[in-house]
Amino acid sequence: MTKIDLNQPLALPDSMRALASILASDHEITIGEGHLERQYAEIADEVQGAVAAVLPTGKYTLGPNLKRFEQEFAAYCEARHSIGISSGTAALHLALEALGVGPGDEVITVANTYIATALAISYTGATPVFVDVDPQTFNMTVELTAAKITKRTRALLPVHLYGHVVDMDPLMALAKQHGLAVLEDASHAHGARYKGRRTGSLGHMAAFSFYPGKNIGAYGDGGAITTNDPDLDEKARVLRYVGQRLKFVHEVIGFQDRLDELQAAILSVKLKRLDEWNDRRRALAAIYDEMLAETPLQLPHVADYAYHVYYSYATIAPTEAERNRLLAFLLERGIGGYAMYPAIVPMQGAYLHMGYKESDFPVASGYARRVLNLPLFETLRPDEARRTAEAILAYYDRAAG
Ligand SMILES: *Cc1c(COP(=O)(O)O)cnc(C)c1O
Repeated sequence: MTKIDLNQPLALPDSMRALASILASDHEITIGEGHLERQYAEIADEVQGAVAAVLPTGKYTLGPNLKRFEQEFAAYCEARHSIGISSGTAALHLALEALGVGPGDEVITVANTYIATALAISYTGATPVFVDVDPQTFNMTVELTAAKITKRTRALLPVHLYGHVVDMDPLMALAKQHGLAVLEDASHAHGARYKGRRTGSLGHMAAFSFYPGKNIGAYGDGGAITTNDPDLDEKARVLRYVGQRLKFVHEVIGFQDRLDELQAAILSVKLKRLDEWNDRRRALAAIYDEMLAETPLQLPHVADYAYHVYYSYATIAPTEAERNRLLAFLLERGIGGYAMYPAIVPMQGAYLHMGYKESDFPVASGYARRVLNLPLFETLRPDEARRTAEAILAYYDRAAG
């Protein structure tokens, strides 16, 4: 474990240097703020009712609200089992533990993901092995993954980036051929579909985050695991609650990673609306698709096997300098564009010791330097999306004129 040295200056990944000064400047954002405040206004009565129903019961963990939400979420994902977990990071970690991943093992994942995907692998004592991604979907591909398999490989950890599913059939075939487990990181993709099938039922296990800003989020931290395998379900339940099958009998070093009753009750209220919320995200994405079609920006690709739920709307600018200029232009006009993820995981200080270079991941590192995400969430208004697109059109008019 690396020690934190507070006397060392903070070392930014190279791909964040130019971006940092743009993000540091202070702008009042008028489009892109207020996602969760607006969402709460839509559901306030029902959420307050759900919370008020839990508070007097005296039962705040592992109670009926969690049980009900787990049944509802499993049904939603078209999976047999769902286990409520304290966060998405913990869900990834416990799923890997349940799959038996540990020291000496390798788990293959993508270079362009949220840090938690890699951290969860590290927590088990296994080694994350990073791969580059497809240039259209920015997701894991079977060819690049196959090239990284060694005799230590135990599992594959694809990420359904931004709500666009990974091409799972070839990956599952590859995993079967090598006896590997497949864990979906579905933290961007609640409700997304692959050839008609929901995320959460595509791999051997899946992990979801209910971080507040996700397509469905708790009022605090939360997460879930899904699986069709009853043994993996049971193992994850034992691991999330101090490693006991029977009270006060601790067979393994378990964890304290339960989803609590209040969050479960709130998530049940939100789950009923998730499909409608994802539809709204898709309608907003269609506005961007149409209005920005003639710009130099590379717009999100939707493969024929995918039902996209747009956790984020990510465009790719032709160059890093242009991404930065356009981002600054939007921020100056109060439009909350952002760059996610601005640095690939292997270039973060936490993983620099592994010795990867940006050039090992030409697609992922190129996109980290050029990605520009536009405001998109279910409570963004269509006129706000249109004004955002108009600002981008104005930027290119100005650049052309
Ligand atoms: C949000 C997220 C996580 C982790 O979720 P937390 O609930 O914040 O712990 C994991 N992977 C991806 C891709 C995410 O976006």
